[in-house]
Amino acid sequence: MKTIGLIGGMSWESTATYYRYINEAVRDQAGGLASAELILNSLDFSKVVALQKADRWDDAGVLLGAAGAGLVRAGADCVLICTNTMHLVADQVARMSGVPLIDIIDETAAVLKADGRKRPLLLATRYTMEHGFYSDRMAAHGVSVQVPDAGDRAAVHEIIFSELCQGVVSDVSRKRLEGIVAVAAERGADSVILGCTEIQLLLAADSLALPGYDSTLIHADAAVRFALSGEAGGRPGAAPQMMDIQSAGAGLLRTR
Ligand code: GLU
Repeated sequence: MKTIGLIGGMSWESTATYYRYINEAVRDQAGGLASAELILNSLDFSKVVALQKADRWDDAGVLLGAAGAGLVRAGADCVLICTNTMHLVADQVARMSGVPLIDIIDETAAVLKADGRKRPLLLATRYTMEHGFYSDRMAAHGVSVQVPDAGDRAAVHEIIFSELCQGVVSDVSRKRLEGIVAVAAERGADSVILGCTEIQLLLAADSLALPGYDSTLIHADAAVRFALSGEAGGRPGAAPQMMDIQSAGAGLLRTR
């Protein structure tokens, strides 16, 4: 079995789901007392959020890249960034880690494509819905991501950070998200991506007005496939470049 490396803590509420799901899937597939060989580097989410708010994505990339490199030094054969949002810096993390990075966008796109979905609604953080890295990568797979209107985007973002990432699950927020999905269905979306790793705490992918795709479970499933079969995910690792190594020292200090 290959060793899975998780860059988690963003938030730990969803990292807990990764840990449980990966171990359950390995037990189901390998049988008996089998469990995953897994190394977790769980970051302090408040530091990551501070970098997001300050638009310091390069520094965030260095922080996560150093975490990925640490996982590889500890024995990980692949790396997962356990959040959709932080795939904004996936290239840098892949470079600094030097092993395959199992990409949540590629894996979600593959499942959507296999089911013939072409126009999914994306429920995610403001960064994921608005920065373009997510929709561009989906477009490269032939999937045209739809996003809610500005007011609804703000509401989804707020629910993620003020509630779900702090362990708060509310019926009012569940109804709000279900309403956003219903509007998207009327406007021609053919599915919905739970494109934030905490949304599965609030919504069940199979109970919505549109067929739902849970990015957390899709991503975790890809890790299990890699661990048990060695099948690599979307992004090959690459040798770290000198600029990454230099900025790792400087950038980490700046996050304090
Ligand atoms: N876990 C969330 C995601 O999948 C949001 C937290 C973050 O900003 O990383 O995007």
